[in-house]
Amino acid sequence: MKPGLQKFLDVVRLRSLRARIFIILILVGILPNILMEMVIVKTYEIKAVEQRSETVQNQLKILANHLIANEFLENYNPNSPYKLESHEIIEAELDMLSNLYEGRVMIIGKSHRVLLDTYNISEGRTMISEEVVKCFRGENISNYDAEHGYIEMTTPIVNTTDDGDGTVQGVMLTSISDSTISSTMKSLNRNAIAVEIITIVLVVTFSFIVSGMLTRPFERITKAIAELKAGYSNEPISVKSYTETVHISDAFNQLQSRMKTLDDSRKEFVSNVSHELKTPLTSMKVLADSLIAQPDAPAELYREFMGDIASEIDRENSIITDLLALTKMDLNTQEVNISSVNIGDLAEIILKRLRPIARKKDIELTLEEQREVVADVDEVKMSLIMTNLVENAIKYNKEHGTVKVSLDSDIQYFTFIVEDTGCGIPEESLPLIYERFYRVDKSHSREIGGTGLGLAITRSAVLLHRGSISVTSEEGAGSTFTVKIPLTYVGN
Ligand code: ADP
Repeated sequence: MKPGLQKFLDVVRLRSLRARIFIILILVGILPNILMEMVIVKTYEIKAVEQRSETVQNQLKILANHLIANEFLENYNPNSPYKLESHEIIEAELDMLSNLYEGRVMIIGKSHRVLLDTYNISEGRTMISEEVVKCFRGENISNYDAEHGYIEMTTPIVNTTDDGDGTVQGVMLTSISDSTISSTMKSLNRNAIAVEIITIVLVVTFSFIVSGMLTRPFERITKAIAELKAGYSNEPISVKSYTETVHISDAFNQLQSRMKTLDDSRKEFVSNVSHELKTPLTSMKVLADSLIAQPDAPAELYREFMGDIASEIDRENSIITDLLALTKMDLNTQEVNISSVNIGDLAEIILKRLRPIARKKDIELTLEEQREVVADVDEVKMSLIMTNLVENAIKYNKEHGTVKVSLDSDIQYFTFIVEDTGCGIPEESLPLIYERFYRVDKSHSREIGGTGLGLAITRSAVLLHRGSISVTSEEGAGSTFTVKIPLTYVGN
């Protein structure tokens, strides 16, 4: 998929951090604004309706008192050609009121009969609407019908003077237009929409810029990593904008330095292997060339050089065997054949095998078993560990020296200790002796047939058993290697 399309899909699915920040900023910036405007407009509407109803209601109450005082309900006859002057005044007042508020007023008598209607439509009819019935019971009603644009209200006509009994004698049913409220509302809404559009444009622009700024450090990290992809640069990446980017940079730099260490050690290993394998070949080439250069060389010289060539081949062979053993050990997938092994018996067999070499240098080889040790180990690898350590203790020992092997165990581990009276290892070399091809004295080691791989193999085999290996040594006095391995195999 093209990167541009992928980026677009990420934005649509809100997987991009920038898109999320953008949306959050828009929501936070716009929603409260819209809500506030809605609340303000609605509050205005409620308040305006309340105020208008109250004003009209007050005037209606005054009118109601006039009606009582002039016994309008009892004596008024809309069809009579002779009306009382006071009733005509009331009619005029009602007309004025309904003109002023663009509305309609109906006066309903006790028997629910409409006595007067400023629209002159319902006079003489009976009006039994819910509002009127409720008002006769003493409940004042005020309804706002925003859809049709009017406010409807009822006003009881009650005799509140001293000689009145407080009962509702009639009802005024009034409906007035909300034209002023609705025109104010319209202009308020228009202004609110204009403010909203400006806010939306401002907030969207602001969110776009800010979300870009906030995510830019992450883009810088990605770019820096992409630039390093081509090869391992020594330049660590550094984006210090946020704590998070500092953490990402640090983690990446650590990973990069680990990869570099691995790469360096791989290069070093390959160069060491090539060098070690080349040395016997060079010797062989020199020996063969010198024989070719002397066509009439005596048979003894041929035999001697051929013997040398054979030993160089042996050496090449042993390096390759050791390398193969090490490579096998490195592969985590390799099989480990765990079985219950009597470690004491195994040590005895190995010592017996190595005794002839020790005898050549008159070295005393002893085995000391504190207790019988039986452990779950890979027998082949365990004998590799023991052979390498005891062989080294003999190889790097002096004439008439001693090699003491001791075996002990506690509840969890058994320890295998090899102590010699040899040349010892210099302190600065101690951390390096497990490295592949490392030898304290290269020429001496080669002389006695060392490949520099023995301790590397030993350590790998110990680690495979989840054990540990340590060494103490004093130059000229001897070395002690201690191997500690769990009695029960733990596995991966
Ligand atoms: P090598 O095949 O050369 O013996 P090893 O990996 O077994 O390789 O040992 C690495 C180096 O550690 C040896 O070359 C030697 O210098 C040193 N070394 C190992 N064991 C002993 C020991 N018991 N006494 C002194 N030096 C030792």
